[in-house]
Amino acid sequence: MKPWEQRTGKAAVHEVSVALGIIDELMRIARRNNARSVLSVRLKIGQLSGIEIGSLRFAFDAVKLEHPMLSSAELLIREIPLRYRCAECGRCFDAGGRIAVSCKACGSRDLKVVSGEEQHIENVELEI
Ligand SMILES: [Zn+2]
Repeated sequence: MKPWEQRTGKAAVHEVSVALGIIDELMRIARRNNARSVLSVRLKIGQLSGIEIGSLRFAFDAVKLEHPMLSSAELLIREIPLRYRCAECGRCFDAGGRIAVSCKACGSRDLKVVSGEEQHIENVELEI
């Protein structure tokens, strides 16, 4: 068992795997830019991504300690609201974090997700 596996014991498995993916990506970005360290990383996390933000922070802070280049990296998270667009009447609405089954205006069930599925790195601040 690696040290971070003990430290992440309380975080959900899904968030740990997301944190590991982010850290791999950060290491790639840092190496490509010959950075000395990563100062901060900003993520876009959609409400529909299934990621629990508190748990992701916990996992990230535990795993980053394995990498000296990342050990002081600050995790900034922008939560993206779940929004739908009705294909019938064209109206957009905020679903308040819940999965909507029908349009609030016309009742149509033909809904498209406009935002809320995001799960990616938006911006990285490096010390060169
Ligand atoms: Zn509608």
